[in-house]
Amino acid sequence: MASRPLVLFDDLGSSRPTTRGVASLVKAGGTAALTAAERRADEARYQEVTCRSALNRVQGMPFDWTLNPYRGCTHGCHYCFARRYHVQFEMNSDDEFASVILVKRNFVEVLQRELDRPSWTRELVALGTATDPYQPIEGHYRLTRGSIEALARGRTPIGLVTKGPMIVRDRDVLMELSRAAGCTVHMSVPTVDEDAWRILEPGTAHPLQRLRAVRELVDAGINAGVLMAPIVPGFSSSRSKLERTVKAIADHGARFVGCNVMYLQDGTRSHFMKFVEREFPSMGPRFERLYVRKYPPEAYRKEIQAMVRVLQQRHGLIGREDRRNEDRRNKDKDAEGGREHEGASGPEQVGFAW
Ligand code: SF4
Repeated sequence: MASRPLVLFDDLGSSRPTTRGVASLVKAGGTAALTAAERRADEARYQEVTCRSALNRVQGMPFDWTLNPYRGCTHGCHYCFARRYHVQFEMNSDDEFASVILVKRNFVEVLQRELDRPSWTRELVALGTATDPYQPIEGHYRLTRGSIEALARGRTPIGLVTKGPMIVRDRDVLMELSRAAGCTVHMSVPTVDEDAWRILEPGTAHPLQRLRAVRELVDAGINAGVLMAPIVPGFSSSRSKLERTVKAIADHGARFVGCNVMYLQDGTRSHFMKFVEREFPSMGPRFERLYVRKYPPEAYRKEIQAMVRVLQQRHGLIGREDRRNEDRRNKDKDAEGGREHEGASGPEQVGFAW
């Protein structure tokens, strides 16, 4: 990653607003009202904020707690699920999501206080669910690194999602946390196809650079794998692209791989559809047809997932233990009556060219 000139923000002092204060400012005067936001070499503006809490309780997810030291993400992936959250700060889910980043300056101190509470039960925390904790600005603020150090002291396990190879700099603290409580790194590499990468993830590191980071983490003894998520219909969903991606993941020694097809909701949906209409107008009607709901039809998703599973087996990414776990999950699912994923309702025809 190219080095960036360091700008020190330490003396902004008490002028730092809360996130709610930022929302009020922007509501009144647009992002131009963020006069203390610093513009950096990457053209993004960074607004320091004061946070009141760090650990965030969530519902309906595979985890109960999340941590996000930043809001917004200069990686600017067009499918990003977190785009819709920027609307909470009165900003749009388009350019402003990738160019106005909120930096929770006191994040580590607040987190440490929360972890020190006797009532904290050291449940699993998901790091990076609404931003990338290793987007370039982390190189300056190191809030993610500070958080991992605090979590290791607080013996709290994490699952971390990122597209930032910068994570390898923190191998030492990730190892410390692995020993103290547990740590799993999910590197997001939806595809190794260069065209799809350039089009869909304009601010991210090359997919192979991300996979090399996975290799380095695994070699250091960290439980690191890859999320092929999201697979974007028409851009990264062909069998040949899936196969190249799964093979590259296997070649880089990932300990596990998961996949999911893109879902579109609220601000993410409106941004993605505008992007398609602008850049790939001929694909628009097909996306409208495929995304009547948040997800494509169940049958389409199953087809993609089945294809990835076959490729994983072919390239040795599903071991015996994984297969046992999968059998167990299928049995549990049967026992629940084959309940379908949210948004799906009964059998549907695939019938799509993608
Ligand atoms: S790296 Fe993650 S958080 Fe950042 S824009 Fe891409 S999908 Fe969103």
